[in-house]
Amino acid sequence: MKQPTELRTDVLVIGGGIGGCRAALRARQLGCDVILTEKAVVGRAGPMTFVHSQFAPWPLTDEEKLVWMREFVQASNYLADQEWLDVLLAEAPSRIDELAEMGVPYERDADGRLKYTTSRGHKVGKTINVDGRVVMEILRRELRRHGVRLLEKVMMTDLLTSDGQYPTLGEVSGAVGFHVRTGEPFVIRSKAVILNTGPLYPKIHFSYIDGVTGEGHRMAYRAGAELAGMEFTQYASWSYWEDTFSSPGQAKIQGIGAKFINAHGEEFMWRYDPEWGNLSSLYRVARAIITENMEGRGPCYVDFRHCREEDIEMLLRVVPTLDLGLREFGIDLRKQPLKTTPFMAIGMGTSGGLRVDTWSRTNVSGLYAVGTCTCLPVIMSGNSGSGHSTFSNVGGYRAGEDAARRAQRMKHPPVKEPQLEAVLAEMLAPLDRRGNTRPADVWAAIGDVTCESTFALFKNAERIDRTRRLVNEIKTYLLPRMSAPDPHELVKALEARSYVEMVELCCLAYGTREESRGEHFRVDFPYQDDIDWLRWVVIKLASHGEPEISTPEVPLDRYPIKPDKRERKPSPFPVPEEYR
Ligand SMILES: Cc1cc2nc3c(=O)[nH]c(=O)nc-3n(C[C@H](O)[C@H](O)[C@H](O)COP(=O)(O)OP(=O)(O)OC[C@H]3O[C@@H](n4cnc5c(N)ncnc54)[C@H](O)[C@@H]3O)c2cc1C
Repeated sequence: MKQPTELRTDVLVIGGGIGGCRAALRARQLGCDVILTEKAVVGRAGPMTFVHSQFAPWPLTDEEKLVWMREFVQASNYLADQEWLDVLLAEAPSRIDELAEMGVPYERDADGRLKYTTSRGHKVGKTINVDGRVVMEILRRELRRHGVRLLEKVMMTDLLTSDGQYPTLGEVSGAVGFHVRTGEPFVIRSKAVILNTGPLYPKIHFSYIDGVTGEGHRMAYRAGAELAGMEFTQYASWSYWEDTFSSPGQAKIQGIGAKFINAHGEEFMWRYDPEWGNLSSLYRVARAIITENMEGRGPCYVDFRHCREEDIEMLLRVVPTLDLGLREFGIDLRKQPLKTTPFMAIGMGTSGGLRVDTWSRTNVSGLYAVGTCTCLPVIMSGNSGSGHSTFSNVGGYRAGEDAARRAQRMKHPPVKEPQLEAVLAEMLAPLDRRGNTRPADVWAAIGDVTCESTFALFKNAERIDRTRRLVNEIKTYLLPRMSAPDPHELVKALEARSYVEMVELCCLAYGTREESRGEHFRVDFPYQDDIDWLRWVVIKLASHGEPEISTPEVPLDRYPIKPDKRERKPSPFPVPEEYR
């Protein structure tokens, strides 16, 4: 093994999305030494580069705040953390102003004011528009300008703990990783670690999302952090166009008023979601398209022909990938509806990650989590198409501030040599293995097991159990055999490891929530149960090495917004007889 490069810092940020950059800049501004590690290049990776629409409250009166909050809470089916929402609504205007001051070119009206528009999941709340890649390029420039030590192409894999234990009873004392080109190991000692490793997605290319496979989830879970909302990890989308290319842009496509129509030209979303119709969640839309197709009314289309020209122009400006695809394949969405193919996989939909308080602290001392590697407490099973990046913007700043305060009042916690040696050896093990099991084989096996349609669409206790068993077999028999001839394959091997281990926990959460809500649909409980299930599903690693589940009630008694009545609401999705 190459000798590790050892570094020491006050605050270590892992992952350079919007949240990680905001955290690093804030901690630096408060006088800390900060290292930010990114396994790719900041601004060239992570789903923040697909963002086009950002939730954007202006300074609201108390009365307005309650109205904006109600929209989020109702959309989350009352699972949202309302204390976090309060913080989000209060602080987002300043965080957005700061980005604008850094030079982020948000779309503006003729008078130079921010141009507010609508987006999926919001009727009251407003969004502003910009190509996410531009935001990230500006943040990267700011990191350099302010002296954040940027380690790009360094993938982090495990946390270190002051007692050398997993789960820890002490605190986090650093992390280990390696350079994805050279394989050079890194050991970084720090007083606080902020995770911003993004959501959990498979590397099976139904979508264009790559490289966010749950390493942050895994390393934090292993250290003892709580995960929540893992039952809502059902990623669904419908932006694979004309059987030729896919693009991001769903939130804005819905926001400018595009309609979903079937082969008979009928608008169908109102049948599946009478409240939101064409502004419904990704999951509901994908599921509705699949149902239309199954019942012989497909293929389905997204129709823009009635949309205003200025809105279409804005859409194509802030989602250049869509513009590029349309040009390349000679498609004019002003003249023809776009054929859409939906897909579903286990991956983050609206929630599924680390549980954090309003300072982005996990339950493990010294460990913070920001953005889409959290359980997205402001959204949970909700429908916001633009709240993610704003939550990350606000949460990142808060994490940076709290981590800086912590770092300024303490010395570096100890690193235990046996733990360090063990995690380095484990991380690099696939490089020394001989054999033919490659990460691609593991991803193929994952695809077969988790995208199987009866499981993806029609979950029941038996199918969830079966899938969990099969995932466990992949974990037990395939993962330890994976070999990686070079650091590039090592990245893929460790990505597959994280994803498999987290998907097993997702299955555990699917089995625990005995109702249907948001992306979570069970044919054996085909109703949203507001009598028994206004609860979060929380999973953590117990000291005996097995996951421990709890289901705390959402503390609605201390929240301002409460449901009018508590009842069981039937799901709108029909289940064919053979899948019951
Ligand atoms: C197609 C699509 C469209 C979307 N559109 C919108 C939208 O319009 N508006 C909106 O608000 N949200 C949107 N989202 C949600 C979007 O994911 C979040 O808003 C955004 O990603 C938040 O960024 P983040 O701070 O969580 O970091 P991310 O952008 O998720 O970045 C995480 C970073 O961590 C790095 N990383 C991962 N693992 C490691 C590791 N082990 N070591 C080091 N680095 C690591 C990754 O390379 C990545 O750069 C969209 C998501 C998708 C998939």
